[in-house]
Formats: sequence, structure tokens, C-alpha cells
Amino acid sequence: MNNGVVVNTDCDRSTLDRFTGEIPRLAPPASRIKSIDVTGKEFPGFNGFRIVTGSRSDSQVTEISPDIAVCDECLAEMATDGFRIDYPFINCTNCGPRFSIITGMPYDRPATTMKEFKMCSRCRSEYDNILDRRFHAQPTACNNCGPRYLLKNSGKIFTGVADIVGEISVLIGSGKVVALKGIGGYHLMCDALSEEAVEGLRGRKHRDAKPFAVMFRDLNAVRDYCFVDRLEERELVSWRRPIVLLRCKRHLAAGVSNGLGTTGAMLPYMPFHHLLFRELKTPAVVLTSGNLSDEPIIIDDAEAEERLMSVADSFVSHNRRIHNRTDDSVVRIIGGNTAIIRRSRGYVPHPVDLGFNVDGILALGAGQKNTFCIGKGFQAFPGQYIGDLDNAATCDFYTESIDRFTGLFNFSPALIACDLHPDYFSSRYASILEKKYNIPLVRVQHHHAHIASCMAEHGLDERVAGVCLDGTGFGTDGHTWGAEFLVADRKEFLRFGHFDYVPMPGGDKAVAEPWRMALSYLYMYFGDTLNYRDIEPFSKISGNEFMLVMEMIRKKINTPLTCGAGRLFDAVSALTGICPEAGFDSEAPMRLESAIKCCTEKHYPYRVNGSVSFGDMFEAILNDIMVRNASVSLISAKFHNTMAQVILDMSERIREEHSVDVVVLTGGVFQNKYLLERASEKLRKANFRVYTSNQVPANDGGISLGQMAVASKLSGLCA
Ligand code: ZN
Ligand code: ZN
Ligand code: FE
Repeated sequence: MNNGVVVNTDCDRSTLDRFTGEIPRLAPPASRIKSIDVTGKEFPGFNGFRIVTGSRSDSQVTEISPDIAVCDECLAEMATDGFRIDYPFINCTNCGPRFSIITGMPYDRPATTMKEFKMCSRCRSEYDNILDRRFHAQPTACNNCGPRYLLKNSGKIFTGVADIVGEISVLIGSGKVVALKGIGGYHLMCDALSEEAVEGLRGRKHRDAKPFAVMFRDLNAVRDYCFVDRLEERELVSWRRPIVLLRCKRHLAAGVSNGLGTTGAMLPYMPFHHLLFRELKTPAVVLTSGNLSDEPIIIDDAEAEERLMSVADSFVSHNRRIHNRTDDSVVRIIGGNTAIIRRSRGYVPHPVDLGFNVDGILALGAGQKNTFCIGKGFQAFPGQYIGDLDNAATCDFYTESIDRFTGLFNFSPALIACDLHPDYFSSRYASILEKKYNIPLVRVQHHHAHIASCMAEHGLDERVAGVCLDGTGFGTDGHTWGAEFLVADRKEFLRFGHFDYVPMPGGDKAVAEPWRMALSYLYMYFGDTLNYRDIEPFSKISGNEFMLVMEMIRKKINTPLTCGAGRLFDAVSALTGICPEAGFDSEAPMRLESAIKCCTEKHYPYRVNGSVSFGDMFEAILNDIMVRNASVSLISAKFHNTMAQVILDMSERIREEHSVDVVVLTGGVFQNKYLLERASEKLRKANFRVYTSNQVPANDGGISLGQMAVASKLSGLCA
């Protein structure tokens, strides 16, 4: 509610202080306490306690709760409450689905997908009782009146939850893949300890090498397989229940993490998950999005059966419709902060509070890992993670979600912001909306948006040294940018420096085949002076292909220029032999990071003359590989240290010239824990104030917030 909660008390000051002190401690976990304001007033003596009904003001309700993991009280009741014994949809005002089932405002049962279920008299009496834990819990239901699960397995149908759970346990135990309808969409599930099951799932899902997320039975099971520190534990058990990236301790099936050294772990968050783990023999199941390769997670039952027929052996559905599709969110603890890598279930549609006005701004995001964002007053509401806008299904999900989100928040755009790239689907959609609403459109440079995004969430409104290490983004010179040192405020930026431009032989093909980037860098710095075929990773490439790529580079055919930091990581990863060919986005940099097993302060040499040049670094790396036979771990550590040193060096140059001592570190590369922690530490030691992306992703999922921040400044909304 806009006005929050008003409490009238009649007491002395110390009682009042105790009362206000208890509020944050006892508040429901998913509540957001922004401030507690106390004002004195004359009151007649109170002698009782009442909650005044009907006190919902007609002022607009703007905040909608994200979906909340089932609470402990409900879990306990699943064992004791006669009406809800083993009821897999048990929920209360403190827990249960929210965003995924809401169809309109105000948030009331008829405006949710629960409207199809008529409350029984028992549920109704709880719902109406102001002192009950289920008072106005919109999705409340019980075994008599609520939604139900259903299992279809080779022509047979199971309806009782005990039968379903028992059957699933047998299926999972025998290596089968089960499609399971969840809160925000379908999951595919199999035994995370069975090599065969995991490989089978990977093959059938056409998912080359990307790691799978894993749901563990409980915290102890997570600890058996992963290293968990205090902050990671806090995220794992939080009501948002995200996937938390953890360092592997013991191996699940090798195919789960595919040698990456990290596991995406989560704990059960639906009552059904808890019931399931009571029966499952395995302590961990793969729980990955129910979709084919890169399409959106499926929410429709019929579509799931049709499209996942070749992937899943059986289907577990339920008859509560999912209205708003949400993937599992992903977080990683970096430098003592929570970095959000994918922001969806449990986070959306909570706003990011801003120190400036963004009312009426619709920001459309970039091309990959897309999110959009709407502005209401001084709050930004990022939409759920959409994905890469490179297939029709994802583009449909995108436009549909914008429609639903704007409808839900009763939002009509007054200003549109999008990326500078003319060919992103989001940029083209921006032009369509610009005409449709006849409103202004602001195009924001990609890396400026990255920096502004981080600034906005931290309330920074000054000139900063913006370090954006990223994959690709359209530059104002028409080239692909991606390792940017900007002197920026929320309105404009100056490009202080960047990495050397390097040709990408074959364009996007060079992203999928990092060895091409390694060759391109080496050729740029050393020309024909090297015997390339003698260098290990190149010797393994077929002669024809190698010659073809070499010719492209020599003759500058189909070799667009890039200075993306991601490509430099790719090149080093390929050169060390870790990842000459990538099976998924960012595989090469991720493997390079996870190769670091040692501790060293050493870094490689580089030069700064206009741009940052890595010829000396590559010479030293070649020397480490070919002459000194250095370990991949050492080379990787030295390379990462070099990046941290460059960041410090460039920040000092900016401070020198522009008297700026605030550094913003963002862009997809900063999901790299080693790098972000190293760079932040170096900068802090050199007396910089350092800011990183926390409430929205450092990757392109955070772009829409940044676009909004820049558009707000440019339009004079927050002047
Ligand atoms: Zn509950
Ligand atoms: Zn009921
Ligand atoms: Fe980016």
C-alpha cells in the first residue's frame, strides 16, 4: 500500500521505542520496511487492540509481492492440520505464490488464477478472520477446495499426492526425466547423482554444456556437496529461495556442472518439493527450466506435453494456472555482497527505490539477458528475466510481459528508453511504441546504461569513473565496444579509454570458437613472426579451417572490430587450452576463472597508449606456456590480476585528470568473483570509493534500469 501501515498507540516513550524496535525483528520475512516514522498526537486513552478493517485507502496500491517460499508454519501444518495434511498448495499471508498468479489489481482472489477455486467454509472463515494467519491470504486453499496435482506416466494417470510423489520417486530412482509444473513455469527434473540421467537430459534438451541447477533436500545435503559460507547460507534459506552459485566440494554427476567448479544450488521452495524429498532416495535433483534450448520456460500444460514430449518421460501438472512466467533467480556472493545474476522469481516485481523521478519511463533493455523496466514515481520496477531476444518465442514472451506488467501497474508510458543498437528487437520495438503512443524515445549507449544502472541503485548522482567490462555493446562510433573506461554522470559520458580493438574472424562465429580470438589477438600483435601451428590449441584445429580463419584475418574479410573484454577472456581461455570452443555463452571466461587454484600477486605487463594494449601480456603468456610450462592455474591467476591492475591503473589516470574518486564496476565480466573481489580490494586500498551492481544484474539484465536513469536525467524529469 502506498501509505504503508498506520499504528496508533497510547504509551510512554520507552514503550514506544521498544515497540518500534520490535517491528523489523518480528515483521513477516517478505515485508519491506522502508522507514518507521513516529509523530506525536493527542489521543484519548486506548484500552484495547483493534485492526480497523476497510482501512485500505483508495490511493493506488503500487507494490505487489513476489512469490514467497512456503513458510515453516505451513510446513508444520502439513503434518498436523486435518484439512491440509500433505496439501501441496498450503500457503498463508506469509508465504505462497503472488506475482506468478496475479492477473490484475487490486490484489484480490478474483484477480488471481485462484479465482477458479471456490473457498470451502473452513478456508473462508480463516480468510475472513482478521486474527487468522490466513486473513486475506488470496491463494489460500485446502485439500477440500484447492488445486490438485496430476501425474501422467506412460498412459496412466495418478491423482492422489501420495501416489504421485511415490511414483516420481520410482521414476527418478530409475534415471528418468520428469517434467514438473512449478510456481513460475515447468521444470525438468532428474537424479543429480546419476551420470546417465543427467547426460540423457542434456542430450534430449539440446543443451550442450551449460551447467544445470540442482535442488538439494536440505542445507546439510548442500553442505555435503558444496562449500557454503554464512552469506551463501543466508541466501539459500531466504524466502526468495534463489539458485546460489557455490564452490563444489564433492561431485554430483559430472554432467551437472561440466567441470566448472561451481554448482547452482537451491533448496525446496514449494510444499510439493518438500513432500517429494520425503520420498526421494537421492539428496539432489537437477531442476532445470522446462524448455527447449533457449526458449522461455513453458507455463502451459498442453504446450509442456507437446513440446517436452521428447525430453520428459512423464509429466506432473497441477490445475492452478501460471499467469506470469518467472524463472528461478540466480545469485552469487561476491566480496561480501549478493550479486544477482538472474532476477526473476522471488525478486520480481519488487521495485528498486531511487533518489530521483522516473515516472512514466518505459525502458526496454538490450538484446541478451533482456529485462524491461517501468518507472513509477521514484521507483523502478524491473520486469522478470526474459532471455535473449533472438527467437520468436522469447520475443513474444517479451512483448506479452510488457503488456501484462504495464497493465498490472496501471502504467502508461510517457517516455521510452532503449539501446543505441539499431537492430536489437528491443530497439525496433521501441520505435513501434514511440509511434503508437507518440511519445519521445531516448537511445542510450549500452555501456553508459551499464554504469548508470549501478549508479542509480546506489543513489549516485555525480561524475564517476565508470569501468564497464562486458561482452558487446554498440558504440557511438559504430564499432562494438565492451571494455570501457568512462568518465560518466547519469546524463553523459566521455570515453576515457578502452581495450585495443581486435578483429573478430567470422563475426559471431568467433564468440562460439574462442580459439579464433586467440589467433586474432596474436596475429594483431605478432603478425607473421610466430609459427602458429606449433602453438598447442591451434595445432588441434583442422588444417583447412585454420587456413580459412588465417586468411580472413590477413585479408580482413568478415572481421568486424571489437574491444569487448569478454573476447579477451575468450582468447586467453583458448590459448591456455581450457576452452578453445565454447558450448554456451561465457563458457570460456567461466572456465578460465574456475581454473584458478593458486594464490599469486603477480600480473602480466601491458601498455596504455590511448587504448590498453596486451601485446606484452600475450608474449608473456606464450612464454609461460611454451617455455616455462607454467600451470593453467597460474596463468589464469596472473591474467586476472592483470585485469585488476589495469582497472586500478585506468582509475588512477581518471582520478588524475578528472578529479573523480568514485569507481563503478559493472558489466557482465564482473560476475567473475575473483576479478571483482581483486579489483575492488586494489581500488579501496588506493582510496577509491567502489560501487558494484547488487539489486539488478551487472550483466545486460541490469541495462533497462540504467537506460531509465539516463532517460530521466536527459528528459529533465529529475532536474
Ligand atoms: Zn505460510
Ligand atoms: Zn478449503
Ligand atoms: Fe552489456
